Amino acid sequence: MMKTIKLSSAPKYFIALAISLILTGCGQADPANSSPTSSKTAAPTSATITLKLAHTWPKGFPIFGDSVDKYAALVEQMSNGQIKIKVDSASKHKAAFGIFDFVKSGQYDIGQSASYYYGGKDPDTLFFASMPFSMTQNEQYAWFYQGGGLELANEVYAKHNIEVMLGGNTGMQMGGWFRKEINGIEDLNGLKMRIPGFAGKVIAKVGAVPTNIPTGELYQALERGTIDALEWVGPGLDLRMGFHKIAPYYYNGWHEPGTELLYFFNKDTMAKLPQWARSILRNAARLTAYDMSTASFAANAANWDTIAEQYPNVQVKRFPKEVIVALRQANQELLDQEKQRSEMARRILESRENYLKKARQWTSIGEKLYLDTLTD
Ligand code: CA
Repeated sequence: MMKTIKLSSAPKYFIALAISLILTGCGQADPANSSPTSSKTAAPTSATITLKLAHTWPKGFPIFGDSVDKYAALVEQMSNGQIKIKVDSASKHKAAFGIFDFVKSGQYDIGQSASYYYGGKDPDTLFFASMPFSMTQNEQYAWFYQGGGLELANEVYAKHNIEVMLGGNTGMQMGGWFRKEINGIEDLNGLKMRIPGFAGKVIAKVGAVPTNIPTGELYQALERGTIDALEWVGPGLDLRMGFHKIAPYYYNGWHEPGTELLYFFNKDTMAKLPQWARSILRNAARLTAYDMSTASFAANAANWDTIAEQYPNVQVKRFPKEVIVALRQANQELLDQEKQRSEMARRILESRENYLKKARQWTSIGEKLYLDTLTD
């Protein structure tokens, strides 16, 4: 007997029926406790669970969007076809930054997005993507998985009926594409720049005007002068956006040294699923996150090679020291304010800072010293 259930839209009695079919097929509620060789540990064959997923990116968007499609395929494969995920891109649902609300309300069962897009919903969510002058990808992964970071993220999101898992990392992000050179702090005054999250607040404090604009409108905004500069990601994703054709100065990163995406899961959906299904959804996310991170690195390396070879007009620039000093000071003042704002923010930020201190000492005598030794 084949039964298809859409958890996000099914009435409660139907979900209960579906779960009971699943459990009947499975033989028990918690297969993790049975022998690994028992046939009872296999995913059931009597029902199909259909889940709806919404992500932030346009249809066909590489790396970020691709990884969600791979996630859906992996979940289906790991569940022996018993879990099907219907993926809607922003081209379909028309709300790039609506993922938090979609999953909170149960309109979608699963979401994939970046946490810092939702500071307007809950300011404590800002701290779970990347923070200016903070941890690199490796350091932050260690914090999330080994240093209590993921637990803190789940504590914040639980208030919104959402469970989170890490969703993949962009690696070091470039400081952005600028139409004019930045020679001193005065050049930031009045500069209109697309830069989301906490970094947007930092540049506002030194006189710039931050905005956030959906992905599909970025090129036009830069071309028409609606904005003077923008940061997006790094060569891996920037090349296809064409920014290098209209803004030739490519500045060093400071604001997103390793941005993590997140998977959001509606907690009611998760509570209604059997253990084996929850386990597949979480572990497939973890594996997808790793694959997306290596895909990001590979694309950055390949596309930077292309830009350097084919677009000699592009110049990589370092922000002047006085700009970095001013940004760091503004950043610290904002962090101190955040710690005053809420006890949760203080706990998250102190956890990040304490972890960074230890992690950076190791990075400094390990990876950094290795690279310095090669270039001395
Ligand atoms: Ca970015």
